[in-house]
This record gives sequence, structure tokens and C-alpha cells, in this order.
Amino acid sequence: MRVEASHEGDRLTLRFTPQGEEPRQAGASMARSETVLEPVPESPLHPDVVALVALLCVRPWLDGQLEMDRPVSQVFAASVLAGEGVELGPVDPAVEPRTRTEGGPVALAYSGGVDCTAALEVLGEGTRCYYQQRHRFDGQPLEGPFDTSAAVAAVKHIQQLGVQARTVRTDLELLREPVGFPHDLVNIAPALLWADADGTSAVCWGTVLTSATLLGATAYRPYEESAFVAGFGPAFQAVGMPVANVIAGVSEMGTHLIAERSRYGAVASSCQRGRPGQPCMECWKCGRKTLSVWGLADQWPEGPVLDRFLQQRAIAWNLRRRPIRVELALAWAAGAYARSTTADGRSRVMQALHELTKGVDASPLTKVFLPAVDPMPARLREPAVAALRRHLEVMSPAEEQWVRDWTIEQHGGEPERKKARSALAAALDPERNPTGLDDFDPQSLAPSQDLAFTVGEPSVGPAASGARRPRLLAWPRRARERRAGC
Ligand SMILES: [Zn+2]
Repeated sequence: MRVEASHEGDRLTLRFTPQGEEPRQAGASMARSETVLEPVPESPLHPDVVALVALLCVRPWLDGQLEMDRPVSQVFAASVLAGEGVELGPVDPAVEPRTRTEGGPVALAYSGGVDCTAALEVLGEGTRCYYQQRHRFDGQPLEGPFDTSAAVAAVKHIQQLGVQARTVRTDLELLREPVGFPHDLVNIAPALLWADADGTSAVCWGTVLTSATLLGATAYRPYEESAFVAGFGPAFQAVGMPVANVIAGVSEMGTHLIAERSRYGAVASSCQRGRPGQPCMECWKCGRKTLSVWGLADQWPEGPVLDRFLQQRAIAWNLRRRPIRVELALAWAAGAYARSTTADGRSRVMQALHELTKGVDASPLTKVFLPAVDPMPARLREPAVAALRRHLEVMSPAEEQWVRDWTIEQHGGEPERKKARSALAAALDPERNPTGLDDFDPQSLAPSQDLAFTVGEPSVGPAASGARRPRLLAWPRRARERRAGC
């Protein structure tokens, strides 16, 4: 792939010209040959940094080579070859690698979601946040159901709390068809481009344990073998921005616990389709993450309401996948539901999920798996571990071993899972599991900000002093009554 980079004023444009057999078919296709990032610093950008951003934009479609329009440093080219197996050129020994800012703040890829909010809380004051905002420069409306208003509001909120946060608009997600990040790590591009101007010295994503180690997908894979450490780790190191993923040992349940007690957490929402303070409550993220919230608070809707919520199209579609994405998080929620003394236990979907995951006890997932913090730069590791310990319990050696030993087979072999799958399919089918909730309004199930978690006693935050009391969620019946009275 050939890359032409044009940097005019505060705009960086990258133009890609596929070579030979490129673009390689890699699940998603390459739909465009140009992308814009704006604003970027007006001062010159280091060629290694521009090359790293370009590489992240087109990594899936490369045929092993990336040819920039200006030379990169020898060290950087060697790091890309070592980690990603990509030959990067041209190389000029006269180009010095980017000098690292010693002791500078960490740059966090921030999107207003729960996971990156937890990362911000753990990294603490001084962290710089970079929001990569999906944008079209051709005046056309954004495609799809996505809404950036909640993320924009979250950026404003943390800025008001004193966090240095920048927004960089880009259409790089349109490079891919279907629209989305061409590479999981590409949302760090704004942080990389602003590194010199802002004096940052490391990069961090809101990457949680299940993504960092594939826990919950097929089988545990050490974080050291991930793209963050093995694949792109050397390249980030070579541009003076080593990877410092502070929540790589924390599950989705753990990030909820941290964010709920964080002053940055009031506006945190992982839903990309909702409005500020109003998650859509229909998408897969809303489905999965709300189950975590209900489990942590031990406050569940009545069985038929819960079933009706999970029968919604996008959520049910994901629950029918084999295996379910992040199935271990569902195992945790189903376990919490089965053990709950407050739930009515009537949800057929939750019963079937518990059966499907063979009742695997995923309760260690509310604790932190500290080995995943090991690859962090030494100077950042100690304060990160201290912050994690303030928020969460630490897994015991036996629990750490449970993580390392986990494979999807613990949820049962395919033949034995067949029966549980058909029970799940029936529970998800409104014809076979009618709930009688014809005017169901998912919005009325959005977790309240006042919800207190009963799992994972904290040593900090309002919940530690008992200032917060569990409050019942608003169920559809009440919501309907309220509307009727208005
Ligand atoms: Zn949603």
C-alpha cells in the first residue's frame, strides 16, 4: 500500500493507493482510499507517527508492505517489522526516532464509555483524553444509527471537571465497509498526533480483561500476546508512547464498579446510539452492560419484563450467536440472577443462559487480574496497581489460575449445549415466550444514576460511607402510570 500524507494547517489527509493484490479481503472491505483527521497540530508531525497512524488505518488490507511518501526512522521500521511483520519504507538512517517526553502524562483514547471512564479514574488527575469523533467532511449525514451526542456531552463533562480533553474529527471509519474502526487500536490516532504538542508519554485504551486476553471468547490468551503488547507494542515504544493499559486486568463488571464511584462516571455510557443520559436500551451493548449493572446492584426487573427486554431484536440476535460474544460476562450475569435473593427468578432467558453456561461461577470477574498490568511501563505500574486496589478486590492465586485455565469448553461441549440453546431460542421468541407487554418501553429500564452496587465493597467513594442506598428501578408499569398521569 502506498501512502501520501498531506498536512495543511490543522488538517491531515492520508491517501492510500493499493498495490498488487491489495486490498486484501479481511472480513470487512476497504471502501475508500482517503481519510482526514482534524484538528491536528499545525507544527510538523514526526514521520514515524504519521506512518503509525496510516498503518492502523489500513492494517487489515495490507499485503505485507507499507510505502510512505517520506522516509521513516530505522528504529521505527524495524519495530513494525518485528511486531506486525510489515515492511515499512522508505527508511533513512538520518531520520531520528521521535524523542520520548520523560514523565509526561498518559494519553487516553476516550469515548465517554464506561470502560474508558474507569481507565481515566485509575490513571488519575493529569491524564489527557482524546476523543476521536466520527465525522463526514463531505457534508453528508452520518450513516447508520450512531449518535455522537452522548460522547460529546461526556467530553464536556470531564473538561468541566478539569480534565484536558481534545476532540479530533475524522472519517476514518468510512474506510471500512461496514462502517467501523479498520483496526481495534486506531482510535488512539488523535493521541499520537497530539503527543508532541501535549507532551504525553504513554498511551492507554479502555481495554478490558475480556478484550485484552480473549477471556469470554474462546480461550484465555496471555495479554502479552495481544496486539497491544506483541503486535503494535514495539511500534508504540519506538515512537516514545509505550502502552499503559491500566484496566487490562478488569472486566466489564469491574469497570462499572470503578466508574460508578468515580466523579467522571456521572455521564459514562457505552451506548453509541443513545442521547446524553439516555442510552437506547435496545442495542447489544445496552443489553449486555445493563445485565451487569442489575447484577452488581442485585436489582432485577420482573421476569417477563426482563425477557421482553432481552427479546429485542439486536439483543436477541447476539444472544443466539455461537458462542455468544463475551459469553463469560453473560455467565456472570446469569449466575448473579440465579443466586439473587431479590430477583423473582421467572426470566426464562436468564434461566436458559445459566443453563447454557453450565452455571460456571464467574464471580472472580468483579476482582482485578493483576498480571495484566505487568506489561505497563514501570513508572506507571505502581500508581496504577495502588489505584486498582483502592477500587477493587484483587484475585487470589486460585482465581488467577481460573482465568488462565478458562476456555469456552467449560460452558460445555457442543452436543450438551444443544438443549440449552434450544431453550434459549424459545425464551427469546416472543411467540413461544409471550410476555404480554405490548407497549413495552425499554427506556423505562435505563438504570438510575442513584443505583448503588452491592457487589465489591469499595474503600473509596460515596458507597463506602453508606451514603447511597439501593433504590428500586422504574419498571415499565410504573413508567406507563407516570405517563398516563402527565
Ligand atoms: Zn444502546
